[in-house]
Amino acid sequence: MSDLPQRISLREVGPRDGLQNEAPVPTESKVALIDALSRTGVGRIEAVSFVHPKAIPSMADAAEVWSAVDKSASVRYSALVPNLRGAQRALEVGFREIEVVVSASDTHNRKNVNRSTAESLDDISELLQAAHAAGATCQVIVSTAFGCPYEGEVPVSRVLDVAGRAMADGADGISYGDTTGMATPSRVTQLVGETRMRFPDAGLNLHFHNTRGTGLANVLAALQLGVVDYDASVGGLGGCPYAPGATGNVCTEDLVHMVEDMGVDTGVDLDAMLDAAREAERLVGRTLPSQVLRAGPRTRLTPLT
Ligand code: ZN
Repeated sequence: MSDLPQRISLREVGPRDGLQNEAPVPTESKVALIDALSRTGVGRIEAVSFVHPKAIPSMADAAEVWSAVDKSASVRYSALVPNLRGAQRALEVGFREIEVVVSASDTHNRKNVNRSTAESLDDISELLQAAHAAGATCQVIVSTAFGCPYEGEVPVSRVLDVAGRAMADGADGISYGDTTGMATPSRVTQLVGETRMRFPDAGLNLHFHNTRGTGLANVLAALQLGVVDYDASVGGLGGCPYAPGATGNVCTEDLVHMVEDMGVDTGVDLDAMLDAAREAERLVGRTLPSQVLRAGPRTRLTPLT
């Protein structure tokens, strides 16, 4: 295998992206899941989102969840926000890492936050100043970066323009969201390659959904280009409430299982992550898409009977 990074950083998004698309679960169950994830060695956890409770009722208890979480010094916790108001709420309760999301597709952005991409970018400019004034960092997530369920193809130039505006306004990093699983390895190679050419110094995180079975292949394509920051969700929890047919994120334990065998260190203890995945299944009361949870790690022996 060509040179892969020796180490990558995973951001566990199950408690946010996953649970946001589930029927509301009790606050204490969310806290228990985040606490279980904090013990896995994962470096980053997107814990909650500060969205309007009418839009996403399942995240109405974000502040309570966060205050009850047993914060680990070795984990960077973050909150997702849709706008300046959400950022202010996240900053008020002590978050020092936030992510704000904007869609590269106008139609998806309007569905999501009821305004155009350009209007969101104006709000984000103000939001970045507020975050920095509070001593926080803010990553701008460009969603529908690999395609939009309403508009279809999203041109790479459009994604780069949105990312470029965010960078010019002071974003501390960019994440590309494959909101509805439209990415393929060739599209990843193209978008990441062009991003690197245009913004060689930008911190780049990738967020894949496994909607069409390309999640791990997309990660591998990006690894080969040296990308070191990825989102994943325990058990493969996840979806997007505004995207029809959306399914879970690339599954954390499946990703860990694959890349560790290729010599890429994730810092994650696979057994502990599998325990967290069992916890996630109990919490949502259904079987999750995780494959390694079903089959066990590749070295698990089958008893001779
Ligand atoms: Zn997502």
